[in-house]
Amino acid sequence: MSHRLDKEKAVNVQVLLRCRPFSEDELRCNAPQVVSCNDSHKEVSVSQTIAGKQIDRVFTFDKVFGPYSRQIDLYDQALVPIVNEVLEGFNCTIFAYGQTGTGKTYTMEGECRRSKGKVNGDLPPHAGVIPRAVKQIFQTLESQHAEYSVKVTYLELYNEEITDLLAPEEIKTSQDERQKKALPLMEDGKKGVLVRGLEEEIVTSSDEIFTLLERGSAKRRTAETLLNKQSSRSHSLFTVTIHIKESTPEGEELIKCGKLNLVDLAGSENIIRSGAREGRAREAGEINKSLLTLGRVITALVEHYGHIPYRDSKLTRLLRDSLGGRTKTCIIATVSPAVHCLEETLSTLDYAHRAR
Ligand code: ADP
Ligand code: MG
Repeated sequence: MSHRLDKEKAVNVQVLLRCRPFSEDELRCNAPQVVSCNDSHKEVSVSQTIAGKQIDRVFTFDKVFGPYSRQIDLYDQALVPIVNEVLEGFNCTIFAYGQTGTGKTYTMEGECRRSKGKVNGDLPPHAGVIPRAVKQIFQTLESQHAEYSVKVTYLELYNEEITDLLAPEEIKTSQDERQKKALPLMEDGKKGVLVRGLEEEIVTSSDEIFTLLERGSAKRRTAETLLNKQSSRSHSLFTVTIHIKESTPEGEELIKCGKLNLVDLAGSENIIRSGAREGRAREAGEINKSLLTLGRVITALVEHYGHIPYRDSKLTRLLRDSLGGRTKTCIIATVSPAVHCLEETLSTLDYAHRAR
């Protein structure tokens, strides 16, 4: 492979690894630590003795964020350039991938309840990627002298069905009614793929994002209790679309359009566990479909294959115009430091490492 291609590859798909701190429960029962991070060497090591056999594996990523890394560190060190690309009129996607409970939602949305309110106009320390990206977008747009608009959509993909997380009506209780509510994915010649009936919110300041996130998460939570821990099996996709109207020195008008996709993926344990129980069989298959297809699409992009299997799942169809070509993709793989997650941790590290 030529040096040029190699360089391009390194630039377009970036894989970060984040290890969360021990939870209070894990600390209380003195859970042994099997994962250690060397942030400056961009390395993660996994060591454990199983049945007298010592496992020692080391993985390298584009960046590594250990348990002491803060939300602001991850954002400032890895994601600012991606959001700048969006402001330049390109489409980019940031994924959180990992086992349930390893910090995907904490990384993407953050926990604003843990630090209410703003401190001197700054974001709360636990605010995640979404509010930080929106803040960067508005700060940049407000400092330029151009007309702009910012639109947001927020959807959930469960069983290959799309639900609007911003739609005002109540979530329906039964699976049948839910299926009727599912929004269709349409191919539109000019615009590409389109979700019919999806609510588009115009946002005029970065503060509004917290209300939208809260609305979406509340809906996700309701569904979770109704449908038994659904959120670990559903993907959520938060999309920010920016239009900027610029005039050239010659007085011509130019519209720049950039899109940022922020994806909180279904728990990666779903990729292995195929539905053991009756009713779960289809669901497990369908979740595998989006996660597995995403893996294949990323491999195809990284390896420069001719055919990219976008059409094989809803998630990759939705993201088709934002993966590959002149776009940037970032995968944040999340893991737990504890021994009881070892098997899933190794499978996350393998999956994420293959995406590089
Ligand atoms: P997931 O979305 O992957 O299922 P969560 O984001 O819900 O996982 O995280 C599980 C728990 O761990 C939450 O209580 C969250 O606050 C905590 N947590 C996750 N990552 C971190 C982190 N980097 N720093 C502090 N707490 C974290
Ligand atoms: Mg989550």
